[in-house]
Amino acid sequence: MIELLKRRAEFYEFPDDRGYFGEYGGSFIPEQLQKIMDEITVEYLKIREDESYIKELAELYQYFVGRPSPVYYAKNLSKKLGGAQIYLKREDLNHTGAHKINHTLGEALLAKKMGKKKLIAETGAGQHGVALATAAALVGLECDIYMGEVDIAKEHPNVVRMEILGARVVPVSFGLKTLKEAVDAAFEAYLKDPVTQFYAIGSVVGPHPFPMMVRDFQSIVGIEAKEQFAALNDGKLPDNLVACVGGGSNAMGLFSAFLKDESVKIYGVEPSGRGFKDGDHAATLSKGTPGILHGFKSYLLQDEKGEPLPVYSVASGLDYPGVGPQHSYLKDSKRVNYVTISDQEAIAAFFELSRTEGIIPAIESSHAVAQAIKLAPQLPVTETILVNLSGRGDKDIDFVVKHYGKQYGLNY
Ligand SMILES: *Cc1c(COP(=O)(O)O)cnc(C)c1O
Repeated sequence: MIELLKRRAEFYEFPDDRGYFGEYGGSFIPEQLQKIMDEITVEYLKIREDESYIKELAELYQYFVGRPSPVYYAKNLSKKLGGAQIYLKREDLNHTGAHKINHTLGEALLAKKMGKKKLIAETGAGQHGVALATAAALVGLECDIYMGEVDIAKEHPNVVRMEILGARVVPVSFGLKTLKEAVDAAFEAYLKDPVTQFYAIGSVVGPHPFPMMVRDFQSIVGIEAKEQFAALNDGKLPDNLVACVGGGSNAMGLFSAFLKDESVKIYGVEPSGRGFKDGDHAATLSKGTPGILHGFKSYLLQDEKGEPLPVYSVASGLDYPGVGPQHSYLKDSKRVNYVTISDQEAIAAFFELSRTEGIIPAIESSHAVAQAIKLAPQLPVTETILVNLSGRGDKDIDFVVKHYGKQYGLNY
């Protein structure tokens, strides 16, 4: 695991020293916060080369998270679709049920080393909140999680989980009461006390160094997957990669290890929700334009005045009007194809994977599975698709049966 972690160094050429991926990223924040971000950057750049920090993180990945997570050949689904062979990177098997523990552990260890007392963060589906509350409990820090009231109602089991783990869940009751407002509220709280608190951002978004740092922590996903896929396929690379994109951390985690392998086609999947009217989707890269939100430059869903538009997706974790700056760079450079999947397609994939493979995926991850289901029949049986199964769907079952159960023969 230590050797695998050290391979992250091959991704360090991006961003530049000011945190830019091409024209995207950077840092657009009040001076007082900039000083703190500079301190975090200096400290992070030091510890990412530090043997004892790498060893500590590697041991937590292995013995606490249960890494490496397997790459699994989805034989039944592949056979049923009759096209390309589908493989799943099983981040759903991680402790806490998703990829987010990979970056919250890294952030919590860094905060502890910097002498911080409390971790704070926003959460959408509650997955980042649970992953951070878990890391806070383990490392011994206090933890406040800001969460929109709509998400609190929708993701009740995760709210309880955070509280059991000793975190405080702070309800956010303005605007649409979802992820964007939770970020606003967490930022506000951070501004009040950036010295004792550490804002552990939940994806590859926010001002520099967060898009870089969270990418570094997540890149273990792709490093492992490349090796595991090769071991199952005579040393070959996958022909296609697929991952869902909310802020974009699980996708950057998988993609980073393959960006230089030109034969590998890469798909980032955004939610088209109920359709492409404003407020009905969260397809930032597909429908947005460049702008600045939450301290960084990237594609955004915004109105003419530059105000963020309301967003919607059946997947709370994908419900954000911005996206990580490296994704904006990868879109413009055409290295990654960004495509969309609707609520209905995602829910169909949720049931399909559950019933063909015995794996209940998170609704977020179901967007990636849906894209693989769409793609596979168009490709020859000799081709392969590696999907990042970013999380498990236990958190979603009540919501899914309530809203879609009847459609799939369940009487709820
Ligand atoms: C949070 C979450 C996502 C979306 O976040 P990214 O930063 O885009 O990866 C995707 N899948 C699961 C299971 C999540 O919990």
